[in-house]
Amino acid sequence: MPPTNQELLQRDLATLWHPCTQMKDHEWLPLIPIRRGEGVWLEDFDGNRYLDAISSWWVNLFGHANPRINQAVKEQLDRLEHVLLAGFSHQPAIELAERLVRLTPEGLDRCFYVDNGSSAVEASLKMSYHYWRNTGHPRKTKFITLSNSYHGETLGALAVGDVALYKETYRPLLMQAITAPSPDCYLREAGESWEAHSRRRFEDMERLLENHAEEVCAVIVEPLVQCAGYMRMYHPVYLSLLRKACDRHGVHLIADEIAVGFGRTGTLFACEQAAISPDFMCLSKGLTGGYLPLSAVMTRETIYQAFYDDYQNLTAFLHSHSYTGNPLACRAALASLDIFAHEPILENNRTTAAHMGQAVAHMADHPHVGEVRQTGMILAIELVQDKASKTPYPWQQRRGLRVYQYGLQNQVLLRPLGNVVYFMPPYIITPEEIELMARVACEGIEQACSTP
Ligand code: PMP
Repeated sequence: MPPTNQELLQRDLATLWHPCTQMKDHEWLPLIPIRRGEGVWLEDFDGNRYLDAISSWWVNLFGHANPRINQAVKEQLDRLEHVLLAGFSHQPAIELAERLVRLTPEGLDRCFYVDNGSSAVEASLKMSYHYWRNTGHPRKTKFITLSNSYHGETLGALAVGDVALYKETYRPLLMQAITAPSPDCYLREAGESWEAHSRRRFEDMERLLENHAEEVCAVIVEPLVQCAGYMRMYHPVYLSLLRKACDRHGVHLIADEIAVGFGRTGTLFACEQAAISPDFMCLSKGLTGGYLPLSAVMTRETIYQAFYDDYQNLTAFLHSHSYTGNPLACRAALASLDIFAHEPILENNRTTAAHMGQAVAHMADHPHVGEVRQTGMILAIELVQDKASKTPYPWQQRRGLRVYQYGLQNQVLLRPLGNVVYFMPPYIITPEEIELMARVACEGIEQACSTP
């Protein structure tokens, strides 16, 4: 007899400590053990199904248990499960690096593997600093970041992030970053366009660069969408202006495409919409189609060359993780890229994204919705207490959590960020599934906002 949800969650709660969770919530909020996944669907041990509207923390692109990726991983498993990547190499790592060099914006000709998003951010920060040190600029030790940005949970990544909920407690442990106001278009003036707002916000960034370029290694941004920062979005013009300014001031640009890469914003990489190429691009999440932990830092040959020297000169980048470039993960990534190569994914996503938008467009008029916004396959609905002033609901009321609970009772896994309900589904979602996801989200919002 297979176990039930109840049995498993009791055993789980006796031993596990879950990520990003106040464990006491599980005294009343059921933890859901998942038995299997297929396409957009997850199924628990009692046979309940949940449409994964958030792609399991934004990693899944082509559905759970995708037959093509499954097959590729199975074949790799029988050949080589893992080998260290220092002094050794393997075919999947080489093939994937070649593919990523071809696919990423021009000039990103070197691929450094890591094994999760935060570690890719750490590696890019260290590489940037180390590049300046190796090239005779040891005073460059700081980073510029955007308010409301998120780059991961390890101490370096947390230090260049700005979401108070995750950062505040650890502030005494963190290096100090220089923070420029986010171009977040939710904050634009009434009647102001996204572009005008993003341009106006850039003036602050320009000033910071003018004043601090001497001591700054790099500016780090999430291109187009600050995902963990409540799915706030901005215009590509900000990235084009930033690229030019970084060049003018001799500062690197790090594009953290961990969440937005691989088609999420409508183009394969979000940077493409601004026609820019950063100095470092961090990739993870969708890189393996959501299968296995892997990340990569793509960078320029000139940066690589600044580390390339006789051993005795001690200029090498001695950063490593045990599972760096794991063959199973690289093989999953190659299979996922094959799907992009053989099917018109980005084109299909335009139709899917338009359908998502239409399905919830009416919510813009809801008295407790501050904004419905969308960039490609990311759609967000911001709940507010007062529409005219965009006053948020007090966080203590946990309105988003009510939507989460409503979703689970009605077959949809939505996991709002605070008061922001969002869709970021696998690309294979069907029109019927979009209708279900949208209907349940709207009903959940209705219910969450109708009580005091
Ligand atoms: N950067 C961005 C933009 C992210 O969204 C995330 C994860 N949500 C990370 C970095 C960290 O990645 P990981 O969770 O794999 O450490």
